[in-house]
Amino acid sequence: MSPAPVKLRADQPDAPLTGLALLRSPFPANQISKLPKPYKKDSPKGKCAECGGYHGLPAVHLDYVGHAALTDRLLDADPTWTWEPVADPASLGLPTAAGGMWIKLTVAGVSRYGFGHPDGKQGGDAVKEVIGDALRNAAMRFGAALDLWHKGDLHAIEAEDEVAEQKAASKAPAPNTTKGAEAPKPPTLAERANRLEAALKAQTTADALRKAYGLASGLCADLDLKDPERLAEIERLYETRFAELSEPAPKEDFGISDDEIPF
Ligand SMILES: [Zn+2]
Repeated sequence: MSPAPVKLRADQPDAPLTGLALLRSPFPANQISKLPKPYKKDSPKGKCAECGGYHGLPAVHLDYVGHAALTDRLLDADPTWTWEPVADPASLGLPTAAGGMWIKLTVAGVSRYGFGHPDGKQGGDAVKEVIGDALRNAAMRFGAALDLWHKGDLHAIEAEDEVAEQKAASKAPAPNTTKGAEAPKPPTLAERANRLEAALKAQTTADALRKAYGLASGLCADLDLKDPERLAEIERLYETRFAELSEPAPKEDFGISDDEIPF
C-alpha cells in the first residue's frame, strides 16, 4: 500500500481532483439528501411540501450525504479504500458506548478513526446503521461533506426559518402587507407569529394547512424558546383549523364521483 499523494498542479488548475482532495470537495446538490427532523416526536404526520416525504410536521430538514453517494465518492477517491473494525478500542484510549463500533477507514494510504452507533435501530438494521454511521463519521475526518455537517448542526433551524418566512409570506400575505419592493426589514418574532397565524387562517384545505404549518418549524422553535404562550395559541389555532378542514364532505347520493359518471 503506497500512499497516493495529492498533487494539485499549478499549471493545470482544471485538472480533476483526485485522492484525498477529491474526498474533501463539496458534494453536488443531486447527491445531498434531506433528513426530516419533526419538531416534536408526536407531531401529526403529513405529506411534506419541502421534501415530498411523509413524516411528522412541522419539521426541520438537515442536509446529509447518504451511503450510496458517500461510497461512490470513496471509490472515486481511491478504488482500493477499505475499513476495518477496531477490535479493542478501550485499549487505544477510545471511549466506548454499548452497541457502537469504532472503525479505521483507510483512503489513499491514510487511516483515520470513526465511530458509529445504531441510533435506536434494532437487529439487522442496527448493524447496517452502525457501519454506515461509522463510515460517515470517519469520512468526515477526511473532510467528506464537512460543510453539510457544519451547516446541519449549526444553521439548520435558521435556514429553514428563512425559507418558511418567504414561502408563508408569498402564499398568504398578512393583512397589513403593502405591495411594492420596500427595503426588507427583518421581522420581529411577534410579526412572524402574526404572519403564521394569518397563513393558518387563510388555508382552505387540510393539506395546505399542514404544509403552511410545516414550513414554519423554525419559527415554532423560536417561539418555543422565547414565547411559549404564543406558540400554544398558534398550536391551538392549527388544531382547530385542522379539525375544521378535515371534516368529511357530505356524501354524494350516487356514491360515485363526477369523473366516474359514465354518461
Ligand atoms: Zn420533509
